[in-house]
Amino acid sequence: MKQLTTTIFTTMSALANQSNAINLGQGFPDFAADPTLLQAAFDAMTQDHNQYAPMMGTLALRTEIANLVKKHYGCDVHVDKEITVTAGASEALFCAILAIVQPADEVIILEPAYDLYRPAIVNGGGVPVAVNLSLEYDKFIVDWDKVKTAITSRTRAIIVNTPNNPTGNIFTERDVIELEQIAEQHNLWVISDEVYEHMVFDGALHQSALRRPALAARTIHVASFGKTLHVTGWKIGYVIAPEKLTNAIRAVHQFNTFTVATPLQLGIASYLNTQPNATDELPGFYQAKRDKFKQGLQNTPLTTLPTEGTYFQLVDYSHISTYAHMSDTEFATHLTTQIGVAAIPLSSFYGTPPSHQKIVRFCFAKKDGTLEQALSRLQEGL
Ligand code: PMP
Ligand code: GLN
Repeated sequence: MKQLTTTIFTTMSALANQSNAINLGQGFPDFAADPTLLQAAFDAMTQDHNQYAPMMGTLALRTEIANLVKKHYGCDVHVDKEITVTAGASEALFCAILAIVQPADEVIILEPAYDLYRPAIVNGGGVPVAVNLSLEYDKFIVDWDKVKTAITSRTRAIIVNTPNNPTGNIFTERDVIELEQIAEQHNLWVISDEVYEHMVFDGALHQSALRRPALAARTIHVASFGKTLHVTGWKIGYVIAPEKLTNAIRAVHQFNTFTVATPLQLGIASYLNTQPNATDELPGFYQAKRDKFKQGLQNTPLTTLPTEGTYFQLVDYSHISTYAHMSDTEFATHLTTQIGVAAIPLSSFYGTPPSHQKIVRFCFAKKDGTLEQALSRLQEGL
């Protein structure tokens, strides 16, 4: 564990607080969740649903999850055998990785990647093998030939993330077809981190692995109500996987958290039951924020990269002579302490970051007023 340092999210949030900066670093909404959802959790508490839930999650929530994936992806999931409720997507990912990785197994990750994957693989005795995404015409894309080249006889799994944190790019249908073919040919498990599944813009379709039966048969689908219902602090997520994989994941989960907050599970279940269209508003809601933020950034010297999904916006500063000499960590620190707007350096999403990249990430899951204030600081300060 000695090699593990404090996460960049903790570091930059602390710096944002110290500097009185607007925190567009760590990804979380600064607005309230739907009061109906909050009331539903409160009701569950006051109705005394405050003891351990079943290890795999409450039946009520697993039933709603099955309905949700049927509605969005046309996929039939067995409520008892294929769904496990976890402490956020984080625990889901950790359990999934520990369930399948044996010592010296290699797991392919596509970098820049969410910072949890690497330590979780190492913790399981595995070896993370990074394949860098290619930056083509401002867009980060997977070069599947590079993925094929990285596969060895020890490769056990590949972790993918669409919509992608931090790039904001999404998989095309071609990507999932390639993924399916490679996974089948090399007999790999796929861990598909889809926590931003309901934040896809401009009418694009989220290419969930659950849409493709052959891929779903070897996939661990990871999701998060923290993202979908604007309650990141609730830490309720879930994993959907074929029975055999689910059994292995539950074997880890039962000795890890065992089960997660009963009234929050029941509150979410009741909310989804009474508001079956709750997730339908997310693309439009976040697309409007993306457009507002992106438009405001046009009045700064920063260059925006395309955001097709998620609530993250990447910006490039390599052409700004005042800042081009700074590393992305120095620039993110400057933005936080001098301009008053916190950001995350892209290099923190790599094992070995490419030296030429000068890109930082902003989170736009904020009230319009917060975005306006952040934009005026950037417009005046840069
Ligand atoms: N995966 C990705 C890509 C994420 O961005 C996050 C949240 N930052 C997680 C997993 C973890 O989600 P949760 O907060 O539900 O544990
Ligand atoms: N997923 C969030 C992000 O990318 C941070 C979560 C965390 O702080 N670990 O900003």
